[in-house]
Amino acid sequence: MKKRDFLKISGIAAGALIAGCKAAPADPSAGRVKSAVKKGGPLKLSYKPYELQLRHVFTVATNSRTTTPVVLTTLEYDGVKGYGEASMPPYLGESHESVLNFLSKVNMEQFSDPFLKEDILSYIDGVMPGNHAAKASLDIALHDLTGKLLGQPWFRLWGLNPQKAPVTSFTIGIDTADVVKEKTLEAGAFRLLKIKMGRDNDKEMIDTVRSVTDVPVFVDVNQGWKDRNYALEMANYLSERGALFIEQPMPKEQVDDIAWLTERSPLPILADEALQTVQDLLPMKGVYSGINIKLMKCGGMHAAYQMITMARQMGMKILIGCMTETSCAVSAAAQLSPLVDWADLDGNLLISNDVYEGMTVVDGKITLPDRPGIGIIGKKSENL
Ligand code: MG
Repeated sequence: MKKRDFLKISGIAAGALIAGCKAAPADPSAGRVKSAVKKGGPLKLSYKPYELQLRHVFTVATNSRTTTPVVLTTLEYDGVKGYGEASMPPYLGESHESVLNFLSKVNMEQFSDPFLKEDILSYIDGVMPGNHAAKASLDIALHDLTGKLLGQPWFRLWGLNPQKAPVTSFTIGIDTADVVKEKTLEAGAFRLLKIKMGRDNDKEMIDTVRSVTDVPVFVDVNQGWKDRNYALEMANYLSERGALFIEQPMPKEQVDDIAWLTERSPLPILADEALQTVQDLLPMKGVYSGINIKLMKCGGMHAAYQMITMARQMGMKILIGCMTETSCAVSAAAQLSPLVDWADLDGNLLISNDVYEGMTVVDGKITLPDRPGIGIIGKKSENL
């Protein structure tokens, strides 16, 4: 049958079908996008400071601590609540005081459509410079809210395959050989370990871990090595012991030394302290071979997605990391994890007073909950 004849017959058949049906009222929404939300009035913001208790004293090259201040945020629209979090490790300069001050200046009630994400995040970014954790807390809450209004998790809205979520690391802090051995054995369920270095026992740290396990490891020096020849010697030493990469080996200011090391190192060299936002990314080219993206540094999920896209175009390796955080911010970061090479999302496991349940680690692998938004539910309703 010729195409023209087929169309003629189909048209007649369709007409006959319509004529044979009872007259149906015209559907006014036909051909239009269905609105996912009712008119729910203005966006309502609420927030509260909270103190995370760490399970163990946490020691890195520059400091030790037992608590981390966070602020828990809620954005409400049409009876639906989206949750966010700002976590403020001291070295980034934000605090309870600065985040509460920032949030007090934000007027979310001017917005009555939570799906105007670009407008809302652009407004938030312009309230004050810096304050990346405070901004992340609003960005995460907005993503959680809009995902819930649409009834979908963000990994699905981004079109990501949850099966491709990577294994996540568990962090072993700098300590004596006995404690390191004990912590490594405790981390037996993990298939990737992150070893902190940068004090005076670097080789002992890796040798101790290797004395009890052969799982893949990577090393975070937190800018602790000052001499590039020593850094290269350690890169070779670590490579021979099965390390995958090194995070921030030297002070971020030693750009030439880091570029020299990256060129010679058998292991990829990743930037952590050296970059925060998407604006910091271009200068990393030729200096580092990869980056550590954290929501608290870059300002949230939207910015992190942009950074991942750009870093890939620059041919860089990507680690997604976190601070000590509740399952809120960790689960938000986990939504992006199918896009990255490695994940270091153990911040919620390092604390004893999490208020949410969300992402879980099953057989060492990130497992994304099939719940809308960022996939979290409250552990203690009084905290929400
Ligand atoms: Mg780091």
